[in-house]
Amino acid sequence: MSDGRAEVRRHAERGSNDRLDGYAILDESLVCHLGFAVDDQPFVIPVTFARAGDELIIHGSPASRLLRHFDGTNEAVAEVTILDGLVLARSAFNHSMNYRSVVCFGKPVVVDDLDERARLLDLVTDKLVPGRRPHLRQMTEKEVRGTKVIRMPIDAISVKVRSGGPGDREEADVDVWAGVVPMSLVAGTPVPADGWEDAEPPRHVKDLA
Ligand SMILES: Cc1cc2nc3c(=O)[nH]c(=O)nc-3n(C[C@H](O)[C@H](O)[C@H](O)COP(=O)(O)OP(=O)(O)OC[C@H]3O[C@@H](n4cnc5c(N)ncnc54)[C@H](O)[C@@H]3O)c2cc1C
Repeated sequence: MSDGRAEVRRHAERGSNDRLDGYAILDESLVCHLGFAVDDQPFVIPVTFARAGDELIIHGSPASRLLRHFDGTNEAVAEVTILDGLVLARSAFNHSMNYRSVVCFGKPVVVDDLDERARLLDLVTDKLVPGRRPHLRQMTEKEVRGTKVIRMPIDAISVKVRSGGPGDREEADVDVWAGVVPMSLVAGTPVPADGWEDAEPPRHVKDLA
């Protein structure tokens, strides 16, 4: 898709508009940052999300400014970044990061239908902890009514990836260690809730780690 907004210009060789690559990065990320402008004031809000086909699903409080704003006419931009490493060069100037990042553009709409809302909320739960939803009770109607859900069509997407070592070969003989320190987000050992100290975490919890 040709969309000037999503054309990576700086370090274009690191960029693409490949939806499948972008979707893989979105699906690996737990948090996205949603940007939008209200009366010329820009906001960026971190949110939990899931991807459903060509849409991002975002939920929140009905009181949220973010969710009140979207009626299908206002543009939003969503961003995720997976940090893969710190790139340590011989000079401060050439320090960098290895990453996979995605920027998506679209006009979110509020989901009014309660059944659809409940279905999309299940997707968000399943994204956070795959396999947990069947272990939980059904959401009550009050809970569904008390949760706003928006779907943001991914009208345009860009992907940018940096990998590899420092770009400072011309200084390779400078006597300072250089290389990459890999970074990743990992799940720790599950900590049981009060009163559940003796319970073995179920498989879907252990699988997170
Ligand atoms: C973890 C991390 C750290 C970074 N640190 C810096 C930094 O300190 N300084 C700095 O200048 N840049 C940094 N970058 C790169 C930064 O994200 C931009 O790509 C870069 O600054 C170029 O900006 P631009 O507006 O000139 O991009 P342009 O290429 O002109 O942007 C045009 C379009 O390309 C797409 N695009 C641009 N950047 C990205 C991206 N990262 N991911 C997906 N799509 C993108 C968007 O759709 C954007 O609308 C970092 C990126 C990451 C992921």
